[in-house]
Amino acid sequence: MKDIAGKTFKIVIAGSGPAGLTAALYAARADLEPIVFEGPEPGGQLTTTTDVENFPGYPEGVLGPKMMDDFRQQAQRFGADTRWGVVTNIDFSKRPYKVEIDEETEIYAEAVIASTGAEAKWLGIESEQRMRGKGVTACATCDGAFFRDQEVIVIGGGDSAMEEATFLTKFASKVTIVHRRDEFRASKIMQKRALDNPKIDVIWNSTLHEVLGDEAVDGVVLENTKTGEKTTLENVKGVFLAIGHKPNTELFEGVLDMDDEGYIITKGKSTYTNVPGVFACGDAQDKIYRQAVTAAGTGCMAAIDAERWLAEQEDSEEVPAESAK
Ligand code: NAP
Repeated sequence: MKDIAGKTFKIVIAGSGPAGLTAALYAARADLEPIVFEGPEPGGQLTTTTDVENFPGYPEGVLGPKMMDDFRQQAQRFGADTRWGVVTNIDFSKRPYKVEIDEETEIYAEAVIASTGAEAKWLGIESEQRMRGKGVTACATCDGAFFRDQEVIVIGGGDSAMEEATFLTKFASKVTIVHRRDEFRASKIMQKRALDNPKIDVIWNSTLHEVLGDEAVDGVVLENTKTGEKTTLENVKGVFLAIGHKPNTELFEGVLDMDDEGYIITKGKSTYTNVPGVFACGDAQDKIYRQAVTAAGTGCMAAIDAERWLAEQEDSEEVPAESAK
């Protein structure tokens, strides 16, 4: 990153999911020469998914990583500079804002687009954390193939749980969905797809109490949420969490207005935040729709908002001396 140290950019984009890369595309086409720091998960959450069937323009569906490569290449084609790197700090006290990359390189940004996305939630129990990466995971796409001909459980009752359970049947001998209530919140079509699959079972009104094992998962203990009764499933070798996501907005804590779950609050129908020149888009500010296509839409909005805001700043700097009196 030495080549950019100390340089001022019109637009710095933090995050490279559909929101960040669409913002980069629009900003690049507006000749704003944006720079994108791709974050800890370049391409965002879609790089951990398989087929994307609901993004318009791909009638046969597309693999998530392939789609994000397409997004990146399209932004690059118009001059967006996309780099592996994480925005580790931003000094919002004066403009241009000082942006720190990977805790070492400092650059300056006239405008910032926050598109840092969201990440999987964890239950937070001790054995889950201890066994992360040893059979406990929040990414079926990444880790499903390790559980060929083995039994796994999926925790959750939303669309992600249905999708992950269905996907895991490609590998696992049996998939049990463990849900804390007696009905799913997932869409009817996703529920049906999962429930119709002969390899999928459901255990209702239950949560994960403990993951057994040391170096690898060797069973789980479930707890009934109604009776408190504990049941051990000895054959389970993989635990997949699918209990929702939290926004990656720690970077903006105490500066940008957020709701109580940490989603950045934007003004009205715009992507303006409470800080001038800072715009938010994608899953970092949207807890309702959270789709690739809506993230891309708000990324486009953020670039247009930033472009207009930058033009307004230039106009106000160019006020002729006469009228400034
Ligand atoms: P979600 O809809 O928020 O569902 C989370 C599930 O996890 C809920 O069933 C919830 O239970 C359960 N849960 C949450 N915290 C828990 C805890 N501490 N212990 C046990 N269970 C817990 O999240 P999601 O499934 O990730 O979906 C997020 C959004 O993405 C949704 O809008 C969804 O439609 C969308 N999505 C779409 C697709 C698709 O269309 N292909 C695929 C995946 C996701 P309760 O129901 O009891 O609250």
